[in-house]
Amino acid sequence: MTARFPDFRLGKVLATSFTGTLSERHGEPVERIPTPNRLIDWLAEYGLAVDSCTPAQLEHARELREAIHAAATAAAIHDALPAAAVHVINDHSAQGRAAAILTPDGDRQWRLTPTSSVEDALSVIAADAISLIAGERDGKLALCASPTCQAAFFDTSQSRTRRWCDMNTCGNREKKARFYANQRKNTGSH
Ligand SMILES: [Zn+2]
Repeated sequence: MTARFPDFRLGKVLATSFTGTLSERHGEPVERIPTPNRLIDWLAEYGLAVDSCTPAQLEHARELREAIHAAATAAAIHDALPAAAVHVINDHSAQGRAAAILTPDGDRQWRLTPTSSVEDALSVIAADAISLIAGERDGKLALCASPTCQAAFFDTSQSRTRRWCDMNTCGNREKKARFYANQRKNTGSH
């Protein structure tokens, strides 16, 4: 049943992968969590498994997503952080009661409370966004060079010169576009 929904783009960074569930914001936007069940599927991919999600909780998730997108975009271009977005991120961060658990193998897992697990999961995402925007992690927030995308992503490359939010989609498309543009130029000159 889920096959007819858009695929997820699963990046390594939780908060910016979450904002990537709405892609092509400056082109024809693709909503990758169109239903509560798709949000459940997405959260499970990041170790934040929840049993259920209501349409209202999905709305809250999207509100958080857009707030993170706005704040991360401002941070990437060294603009003042939008106050409303900061407020939404902080509210979501404070609302959850997720606990970080250390497994016997030394991995971190999140333990969510059974009664408000979506809120707990969103608080983990909000806290992840806060650590990125506050500059506490090794890397740099940047905007995707694709004009129809312009997604905020977290560049952890050594040179900090990554240009695309995702190499397999935006990066590839750009490369192809350049290839065809060159081909046209070459055939036109003959
Ligand atoms: Zn992109």
